[in-house]
Amino acid sequence: MRYSRQELFSKIGKEGQGLIRKSTVAIVGLGALGSSSAELLTRAGIGKLKIIDRDVIEENNLQRQSLYTEEDIGKVKAETLKKHLKEINSEVQVEAFVLDLDYKNVEILESNLVLDCSDNMDTRYLINEYCVKNNIKWIHASVIGDKGYVLVINKGACFKCVFDKVKSETLGSCETEGVLNTIVKVISGMQVNECLKILTEQEHTNELVYYNIWKQSLDKIKIKKREDCEVCNGKYEYLEGKKGDNLVKLCGREVYQIKGRNLDIKELHNKLKGSILSDHFLVYDRIMIFKEGRAFIKAKNDEEAKKVYSQFVGN
Ligand SMILES: [Zn+2]
Repeated sequence: MRYSRQELFSKIGKEGQGLIRKSTVAIVGLGALGSSSAELLTRAGIGKLKIIDRDVIEENNLQRQSLYTEEDIGKVKAETLKKHLKEINSEVQVEAFVLDLDYKNVEILESNLVLDCSDNMDTRYLINEYCVKNNIKWIHASVIGDKGYVLVINKGACFKCVFDKVKSETLGSCETEGVLNTIVKVISGMQVNECLKILTEQEHTNELVYYNIWKQSLDKIKIKKREDCEVCNGKYEYLEGKKGDNLVKLCGREVYQIKGRNLDIKELHNKLKGSILSDHFLVYDRIMIFKEGRAFIKAKNDEEAKKVYSQFVGN
């Protein structure tokens, strides 16, 4: 009964619903797009979701990020979203990962399909290499301002064939250009729709879809495999850890992420008098330290971030 309206839709039917229920989808990034796509898949009766995010909820997220509430501010996104998703549909298995996806933990993407809802190019290139190498279909989606993109990567051209050597810094970010919550819903809907087509073994769109909600204009751009694409030729620099940094500036904010060794944050909590400890992280002064040794630091530049990190955590 729960899925009767979806099963009545002829292109899904009871058979399609059965396929959806048997599937596992991994979602990278649980901001505006990721939280919305996770909600849609949960309501649609997906079998299992693996939800991955490195960040905590901030007040300015509430304008566009589904399911998070005022009470959730300051909590980690992955665990918080899991709680809300289970309230919506207790049948769905949800595995939450509070971490920054990198070459050491990328195996957690093992699934029937991966949704990229991340906010940076390094993560997208890493997902691309993992999925191409392991023959997993994935769907890139991104939004900024009043526009968004959706691209299914499956056998033909890969992400690097289309977007070669693009640096995150050269793209605009939601923090500098803003983003409407309306475009998030459209692009998330398109992403999950392509996902449902693939999970129910149907034809999907092979073009890069671009939509501008302010102008109400939709374009489909044909993409081509690049003969000299490194990834299509089996060269995986991100998977081998040759690319991707231990120190990155987070999307448009004056916050840096540094990855260090694993830490006992309880021990550190005892050392740093006045620090605040929660399940996943410790906050002290300008620094937030996660269990895996990862830290967010408010700083003006790389050097200052490194200095604060070594001051409180060590080298
Ligand atoms: Zn390629």
